[in-house]
Amino acid sequence: MLKIALPNKGRLSEEVRELFNDAGLEVRARGERALTASLGGEFEAIFVRAQDIPEFVADGAAQAGVTGWDLVNEAGRELEPLMDLEFGRCRLVVAARDESGIARAEDVKDGMRVASCFPRLTQAFFQQRGQKVTVVPVSGAAEIAPHLGIADIVVDLTSTGSTLKMNGLREVATVLESSARLVAYPRNGSDARRALEELTQALGSVLAARGQRYLMANVPKTSLEKVREVLPGLNGPTVVDVMNGGHFVAVHAVVSTRTLYRTVNALKALGGQGILVTRIERLMA
Ligand code: AMP
Repeated sequence: MLKIALPNKGRLSEEVRELFNDAGLEVRARGERALTASLGGEFEAIFVRAQDIPEFVADGAAQAGVTGWDLVNEAGRELEPLMDLEFGRCRLVVAARDESGIARAEDVKDGMRVASCFPRLTQAFFQQRGQKVTVVPVSGAAEIAPHLGIADIVVDLTSTGSTLKMNGLREVATVLESSARLVAYPRNGSDARRALEELTQALGSVLAARGQRYLMANVPKTSLEKVREVLPGLNGPTVVDVMNGGHFVAVHAVVSTRTLYRTVNALKALGGQGILVTRIERLMA
């Protein structure tokens, strides 16, 4: 059995479960508060706090884990990054009070106090820049520190920026870009590595499918050449005869969600009918 450490609660936990479910690894937990669950196949999930996952995996208590890239970097442990899971996107930023006169990282003066839940990354960021700040470690709600006079600035996570704004803080520099990652114990044996390679492919196939749709349409045979130009698909569209279709044939193709709107309109303009767009569960190119 291979143990995969997954966040037990918080921002990442729901999306992690959904991703594993979509990859066919259903989290079969015995109740809401179960600490472990079978994932089917050779995997067992262990549910722990997102912050603790880098330590669990680096110590080999789990062969792999999913957590934020920010937490992986803050832990500073040796871990093998396997895959960017593309959700939980956020940035670790330096933020200052609007009225502080600090608009850029260069404006931070030596001796200033910086509150952060990420003391290591904060220290490293300013050290690299040759700025001598005092880091004030906190375990949450860093954004309140400047208002309490505990710190001059903060290094905190943000995604939309609304929490910073609500607290009268302005972003002045980016320390790190983060998203959820699958990471592994660096000294896994060959069987574990093989299983994790399969897991990576399965999760990757779900992520690849999310940005794509399967499109089907009936088009006049005479416009097939033009249809090929608007429907490149993975290897060009599949063309299928339609029974009693007259001068119509069916075309099927995988289309990026980014171009879907334009593609459907282009097909209509070429005489396309019965246009059908469906989600794809998994895509292995
Ligand atoms: P939790 O504290 O358990 O909700 O998980 C926090 C993790 O979620 C962070 O370490 C980040 O990797 C990720 N995350 C994504 N967006 C945000 C955000 N806007 N603020 C804080 N954490 C975020």
